[in-house]
Amino acid sequence: MVLSLPQNVKTVIEILEKNGYEAYIVGGCVRDELLGRTPKDYDITTSAIPEQVKKVFRDYKVIDTGIRHGTVTVLVNGESFEVTTYRKDGAYSDRRRPDSVIFSSSLTDDLSRRDFTINAMAYNPREGLADPYGGQGDLFRRKISCVGEPQKRFGEDALRIMRALRFASELGFKLDDGTAEAVHYMKDLLKEISAERISKELSLLLCGKEPFEVLTEFSDVIAVIVPEIAPCIDFDQHNRYHMYDVWTHSAAAVARSVPDPDVRLALMLHDIGKPFCLKKDDEGNGHFYGHEKLSADIAENVLRRLRFPTDKIERAAKLIRYHYITPVDDEKVVRRLLSTLGDEDFFLLMEVMKGDNRAKQSFCYERVRVIEAMQATAQKIIGENQCIKISDLAVDGNDMLELGYSGKAVGDILDVLLEAVIDEKLPNEREALLRFARERFNVSE
Ligand code: ATP
Ligand code: MG
Repeated sequence: MVLSLPQNVKTVIEILEKNGYEAYIVGGCVRDELLGRTPKDYDITTSAIPEQVKKVFRDYKVIDTGIRHGTVTVLVNGESFEVTTYRKDGAYSDRRRPDSVIFSSSLTDDLSRRDFTINAMAYNPREGLADPYGGQGDLFRRKISCVGEPQKRFGEDALRIMRALRFASELGFKLDDGTAEAVHYMKDLLKEISAERISKELSLLLCGKEPFEVLTEFSDVIAVIVPEIAPCIDFDQHNRYHMYDVWTHSAAAVARSVPDPDVRLALMLHDIGKPFCLKKDDEGNGHFYGHEKLSADIAENVLRRLRFPTDKIERAAKLIRYHYITPVDDEKVVRRLLSTLGDEDFFLLMEVMKGDNRAKQSFCYERVRVIEAMQATAQKIIGENQCIKISDLAVDGNDMLELGYSGKAVGDILDVLLEAVIDEKLPNEREALLRFARERFNVSE
């Protein structure tokens, strides 16, 4: 087994070895190298303790990242590498992190504390692959399996439950039977994990390759971190546009959308209020009037509790609030949406709406075409620098002050002018806008 490693990585390993220490790349980068994926970064594990690492790299810039945990960051040609001493974890009493970290002289000790077999491999150009837990076999079988006994490992650190789902989605793997069983059984331990750590894994899960399988097979686990989805699971929509229950539809919408974290987060929660809005008509068809507003409100609560950043929460709520608009490819409609939402959120909304419609009956695909046409229309509007914002108007606040407007009335009249221009009732020309504003002023006096 020979992996071709980047030169900077080889340099770090060579320097440690030249000084008599063992050194391997370890964890995610070995997994990704074996899968032919480009690793996000290369972590290095070594028999040297942090003081020794610092001494060996005295001619390089070294940062004390987590000395107590055995990690120093070494910069080689501007690239940073975390170099961590072989470790053995002490007892876990808080289900989050070990009570103590013990340095070890054995690579196998270090690999034994890692979460999954596919993440518990190390590689060194001279020694080849170290794979004491069968990670390579699991990569081949496309399985996520705990190192050691799953219940014990999830009991030590419940975040591993979310990580198992996240890797399954990212890689398109299945959980090994024992690992899956333990995930279902131990799921409630996730309540003890910090919201920040959960939401980071959730975002990665959503943006993975196969989120549908994970979100549906492990909906009970997702419901521990987002109890608000529980009413959606198996909730029949009684509606001819839908062939899925609310949660399966949401999971399908996530999976059939672009892998953008804002789009997918919004889609996971876009119908979360539906079970509370069902009204059946005389023929027994389900309708969900106002579900987009209620879903946006519930989503805001969920995301605040999961400690997502405020701008992400606001964006998700906005995308959910607008997801149910009827797609119409008309320049006026598109211009108005661009004006109301801003460019960036407009295009995200279109992706949300495409994901949503791809997860309905096949005849809804027609709407996807309309949404794509709206995207092209928006590109044209932007390309032509058409007027969609107050600052695009051929007049400004000073002009309105000169006409006699003051205070709040200045902003109000500019809003009126913008609307008229967007709706093509007025051209965006200075004289026409001033004339209109002057006439309005005389009327309002
Ligand atoms: P990614 O490519 O997304 O960064 P990764 O496998 O590198 O995936 P990290 O969170 O960067 O994941 O962790 C690096 C390595 O540390 C993992 O591959 C795994 O060996 C180990 N690890 C991380 N978190 C845990 C955990 N909670 N329990 C046990 N081992 C862990
Ligand atoms: Mg990593």
